[in-house]
Amino acid sequence: MTILNWISIKCNCNYEFKFELPKSITTWMYPEMVQTLVDGGYSQTSCPECGISVIINGAIMVNTPKGIVTMPTGPPEKLIDILHKLEIVDETGKPFSSQEISNSLQNNMQNLDENPLLKEQAEMNEIFKEPKKYFEKILVGEKEKKKKKRFGLF
Ligand SMILES: [Zn+2]
Repeated sequence: MTILNWISIKCNCNYEFKFELPKSITTWMYPEMVQTLVDGGYSQTSCPECGISVIINGAIMVNTPKGIVTMPTGPPEKLIDILHKLEIVDETGKPFSSQEISNSLQNNMQNLDENPLLKEQAEMNEIFKEPKKYFEKILVGEKEKKKKKRFGLF
């Protein structure tokens, strides 16, 4: 899911303005937002009043073919390496296309053992898809505890 969000920034000149900082980015749907991230567009802006540069110390949840990670908005030169490892940009920092990112995700989903984070998140998804199963597991656990107690008493 891609969630947009407006944050309030107060410049040293006391001027207050709004800045659009995504809370999360689904990379295979919005490669243009990945480009903005790589370009440092979410880590820095300028005050519309006095023009001075303002650094944004934020974090964005990024949905990648390797799983969902929270990463800082910058500085951009440090992001490229991370984004490359997460398979959303090439080694030069150029975002892959939606299709390429989708392909990586599909490929990783078929090799979950090599992608521990993705595996964990896929398992969580399964649990949330079937909450009944999840609660049954808890209930079975409780019942067994009770049984043990009873045996302990006798
Ligand atoms: Zn200002």
